[in-house]
Amino acid sequence: MARTQYFSYQAKSSFVTILFAPTKPYLFPPANPYFLKKCCPGKLFTGTNLGSTPFYMICRGAMEYLFGDPPDPGAVKEIAPGLQWLRMPLPMALDHINLWLIEDGSGWTLIDTGLYSGLSQKLWRNVLNNLLGGRPLTRVICTHFHPDHVGMAGWLVEETGAEFWMAREEWLYARVLAIDTGEHFTDAMVAHYHRAGGSPEYLAKLRERGAFFSGIVSEVPRSIQRIRDGDAFKIGGKQWHVVVGNGHAPEHTCLLSRELGLFISGDIVLPRISPHIGVYADEPDGNPLRDYLETLEKFHALPDDAIVLPSHNEPFRGLHKRLSELQQHHAERLKEFSHACVTPATALDVAKQVFARRLDSAQLGFAIAETVAHLNYLIADEQIKRRTNEDGVYLYQKI
Ligand SMILES: [Zn+2]
Repeated sequence: MARTQYFSYQAKSSFVTILFAPTKPYLFPPANPYFLKKCCPGKLFTGTNLGSTPFYMICRGAMEYLFGDPPDPGAVKEIAPGLQWLRMPLPMALDHINLWLIEDGSGWTLIDTGLYSGLSQKLWRNVLNNLLGGRPLTRVICTHFHPDHVGMAGWLVEETGAEFWMAREEWLYARVLAIDTGEHFTDAMVAHYHRAGGSPEYLAKLRERGAFFSGIVSEVPRSIQRIRDGDAFKIGGKQWHVVVGNGHAPEHTCLLSRELGLFISGDIVLPRISPHIGVYADEPDGNPLRDYLETLEKFHALPDDAIVLPSHNEPFRGLHKRLSELQQHHAERLKEFSHACVTPATALDVAKQVFARRLDSAQLGFAIAETVAHLNYLIADEQIKRRTNEDGVYLYQKI
């Protein structure tokens, strides 16, 4: 059998990799935009070229950013008729979240809300009073329970009387975390980071910080309009579908409008950063990375030409290309994590080795959570094993 060769082929903004076994003279597939559009990026495509040589292609697609500079914090930018891009500031390295306002009859539907803070309240008052053309906020939909998404929901619902829509599991997480503020919560969190190899100083810092969710989230509404995977409903007379993604949060809601060619991806697909996939004390042996990788695979069935509206960075087109990149990223990371366990190592040792940059205590928590997610995946895949040392700390080792 002829040796398989790989070719890269660049045409316009699309990029395809072609894999084929040449047995006869061949011509590359035509630089035909129609052909490239038909070709589903990330997927294998087979055909016969002009020289009758069978070939297989993997289209890598392309990503484009469509709307220029983002709006300032607390300001809106219209990116399509009846669709406003609103940004709210976050007091951390990732300094913003994107929110989406969609004209909905005589009012507005809002997707996600921002972190609860004095600044957010001030900015939101201005949005409600001056930037919505005199129309009220009538519906708030939250993609998931993380505080930058659900933080202002209670405040907004209280202020405006808007309906509150959310997936049940996400809402329950938010409700539980807002209420579970006692010592037992802190004990479980500290135990989790102890098993990961956290130093006594680090664990003392965690204990001092305690449960912080309720401090950055306004009171989570006591009732929801439940939305589920596959549900369809209208916003502004246009049809939207609920597409649930897993791994980043338990029942993360994305919204797709085929009619408008828009996909609100929340935190499941971000263009410039890899969404956080972490293991925490609530499910220390969980395998959210498997859930997330399954979601990425599932999302290849969504339309590649939809404009993706992510919660961080900027809107873009090129969903399948980004899905493939994220799959690739985790495949590479899994190799690095596995390699870091050649000799027995704690999750903290592994995190330091793989992330190879100075991590402050806030980042360290995320880095350990992300590390344990990859290690739990590798354990389930029987590539590494875990044992507990005499101090109750987990040691991971490559099999
Ligand atoms: Zn999130």
